[in-house]
Amino acid sequence: MKFEDYRISAQIKSQLKVLGFNKPTDIQFKAIDPILKGEDVLAIAQTGTGKTAAFVIPILEILEKKKSRGKQTEGVKCLVLAPTRELAIQISKVFESIGQNLKVVSACIHGGVEQDPQIAQLNKGVDILVATPGRMFDLVSQGHLNMKNLEILCLDEADLMLDLGFYKDIQDLLKHIPKHRQTLFFSATITLKIKKLAYSVVKNAIRIQISPKNPVAKNIDHAVVFIEMDDKRFFLENVLKEYEESKFVVFVRTKIRAERVVAAMERVMLKTEFLHGGVEQQERFAILDRFRKNENRVLITTDVAARGIDIPDVDYVINYDLPDVSENYVHRVGRTGRGNKRGQALSFCSKDEMVFLEDIEEYTGEEIQRFELTNGEYEDILGATDDGSYNWKKLIDEEGGGDEW
Ligand code: ADP
Ligand code: MG
Repeated sequence: MKFEDYRISAQIKSQLKVLGFNKPTDIQFKAIDPILKGEDVLAIAQTGTGKTAAFVIPILEILEKKKSRGKQTEGVKCLVLAPTRELAIQISKVFESIGQNLKVVSACIHGGVEQDPQIAQLNKGVDILVATPGRMFDLVSQGHLNMKNLEILCLDEADLMLDLGFYKDIQDLLKHIPKHRQTLFFSATITLKIKKLAYSVVKNAIRIQISPKNPVAKNIDHAVVFIEMDDKRFFLENVLKEYEESKFVVFVRTKIRAERVVAAMERVMLKTEFLHGGVEQQERFAILDRFRKNENRVLITTDVAARGIDIPDVDYVINYDLPDVSENYVHRVGRTGRGNKRGQALSFCSKDEMVFLEDIEEYTGEEIQRFELTNGEYEDILGATDDGSYNWKKLIDEEGGGDEW
């Protein structure tokens, strides 16, 4: 079935054509109809499979139809919540591009920037609001956000939005919106516990659409290589120099490590940029923008960029540090292999991180391919560094690093 054959408005179809969307992806095929029928949906589908348009298309269609018929109540009709500001903006852009020729108005609000322009936009009338929870609650408590006629609540990265940290927010939100509404959950991962929570948020039955056994997207080749903690930077240098045309997202555990890795790469003449939650918001947007536009090809980041970010031409994901939350492995490697593209991911695992690797493999249900290095190859990589301050022979002699790995 093609989008042409769908009973949706011609304006949406023409925009889908402009975007090059001819056929729905699996999740779009399974989710669009039930959402159009008004059902609550819990949709689990792998990273990069087009979940955004799976909710954007029917939401636009439902609200546009009502608006065209002159059925207009005041306030926001649909609220889409996302965990990060970057993701909220990205989703909002999909609403804008698919909904370009429609009457429904969408907007995005998020923290880290001045709220006055956002309030001004809300006052002009917004049908679909994409938001991060923090700023949304600020505006609700100040009386700028009217959600008493809300018809659709959509949580993207739903498992995270229902988990610790956000769950209380969601519970609070439910007090501000009508009980009778349509609720949509989208994610690539969900645990049993969170699934139960999801069912407690919506009383009526919800559909589970696609539930893959191994949540890692099938078009991603992923492997793990065993590297001592102190040697990781030399291996990153090696990979970045070997694939000098490729685009990389490199995940590290902490903000400080992100900055240190950038500094270490600078010492060996590699230009990279770090992105983390401690960076001022406008700069966060600018960093991601430069990466999108290929002005920077290596992004060193924390889990702030793990969820939802869609940059279609990322060639490699490197887990410089393994994530301690297994789900995040799936989301991190999912920054590559978007849509029909293939992607590659490589994780650097130190002795201390073996426990995380075991957890991840238990979670994904499969052993991750080992990238084997002989002692000789390992030492060659250390020896090839352009970091003049590094006396690798001495280090190996002192610490015995490299022997068992
Ligand atoms: P997910 O949320 O499942 O991780 P996204 O919604 O971010 O995935 O979509 C991944 C990529 O696939 C995006 O670049 C998007 O433009 C593209 N895409 C989505 N639906 C289609 C489609 N029907 N045809 C072609 N490309 C699509
Ligand atoms: Mg997504």
